[in-house]
Amino acid sequence: MLRIQLAHSYFLRFDQKQWERGKPYPPLATIQVAAMLRRMGHEVTLFDAMLAEGVDAYADTLRDARPDLVVLYEDNFNFLTKMCLGRMHEAACRMVSEASGSGARVLVAGSDASDRPGLLLEAGADAVLIGEGIAALCELVGRLDREQDIDVPRWMSGIGGVASPHADTVATRPPNGMPPAPQLSGEAAWDLVDIERYRRLWEERHGYFSMNMVASRGCPFRCNWCAKPIWGNHYRQRSARDVAEEMAMLKRRFRPDHIWMADDIFGFRVDWLDEFAERLGELDGMVPFSIQIRANMISEAMAAALERAGCVEAWIGAESGSQRILDAMAKDTDVEHVYSARSRLGAHGIRVGFFIQLGYLGEQLEDLLATRELVANAAPDEIGVSVSYPLPGTRFYEQVKAQLGAKTHWDDSGDLAMMFRGAYDSGFYRSFRDLLHRQVELMQSEQGLGPRVYGEACARLEARWQALLASGRDHLRELGHVAAAEDC
Ligand code: SF4
Repeated sequence: MLRIQLAHSYFLRFDQKQWERGKPYPPLATIQVAAMLRRMGHEVTLFDAMLAEGVDAYADTLRDARPDLVVLYEDNFNFLTKMCLGRMHEAACRMVSEASGSGARVLVAGSDASDRPGLLLEAGADAVLIGEGIAALCELVGRLDREQDIDVPRWMSGIGGVASPHADTVATRPPNGMPPAPQLSGEAAWDLVDIERYRRLWEERHGYFSMNMVASRGCPFRCNWCAKPIWGNHYRQRSARDVAEEMAMLKRRFRPDHIWMADDIFGFRVDWLDEFAERLGELDGMVPFSIQIRANMISEAMAAALERAGCVEAWIGAESGSQRILDAMAKDTDVEHVYSARSRLGAHGIRVGFFIQLGYLGEQLEDLLATRELVANAAPDEIGVSVSYPLPGTRFYEQVKAQLGAKTHWDDSGDLAMMFRGAYDSGFYRSFRDLLHRQVELMQSEQGLGPRVYGEACARLEARWQALLASGRDHLRELGHVAAAEDC
């Protein structure tokens, strides 16, 4: 039996925007792996960075846990982890160095590690597990358990799918990712998480408590900017009964008010959702939940099935109001799908959020105006706005690689820096984002404000829009795109 410490490096405190937002979730993938290792007979502890003070707190846990092996296993379901943020990369390197300095063997897995294993290996990791890395992890843990003083070259010998100076071949991430491993099934190690700490923070900030779970891993679609370094285009869905039973268990044990389904695409089929709803009914296990789903999957039948299952909020990757930009992204949806999804979900009482992306390659002022129009006309309940972010391994990254400067990753999720030559600079997109948010806030508050105050607020907002758009036209003129500027 080995003493194994599971950890991850997403410190909410290192991400100012998310700290202020105050909606943290436990590291689901990390505790799924913890449960699997425990089923293999090992003694497992967890360092949960999410609510920790910093890396010094991690060093303290090493002294108490004295692990034989540290597995820094990032939460693949946390979209912020998928962004490979600079501050978290630095924290991961420091944690690896602390763990290695304590005498433990160290393995690392996650999106960032799969994309750039070099600095983690230099910091002292024995190996980086590429992709989900479960097969390699099980083999390495088994070998170490049988021979605890095995030297590293023999430990790594013949193992596929790892990056290590000691491996026979240095693995790199396959362009199409790896299928989700079947070993990661069953209940996650929820007992290792300080759930009450999460509950306190949620209740203090929002007056309710939300937990997370997943019904699937991966996504079969191919939007060409989307980072899917772990599973590529593979998709594995759990049975509807299994997911319903987990939700019922979470409801009995932790009494959450809400659940965030962290799937890239939740539900997928109406018959799956109906079976899910039926089993939840039998178990009295229903908890209101939020999902992410594609606009072109929201048929009338799907919207009704989501409502029956207890879905209260759906986030859609609307991205842009310009069909030209959606096509350039290989999004494989039409702007019309976004409108119809919004109205069908709304008719079933489901709140709708749009993810919006600004600054995609080739986007011009007319495309931005189409996005403004989409938000104004479809009137989502909420929006999340980002600028296009070229992540290694994506087709989009290859398209803009030659334009990238020294900065290749955002420091934190509020960074919003343009890292390639878009039509405008970061400041313009930040202002555009702020005005889009203001527009949605204003539409949401229309009834409370009354017609006169609402009308005045709309006029002030329109003046701010016009000032920003004028600055955008000036910017295009400076670049010599006079015709484009005048067309808009
Ligand atoms: S549908 Fe969503 S998760 Fe799937 S490739 Fe497109 S953006 Fe990525």
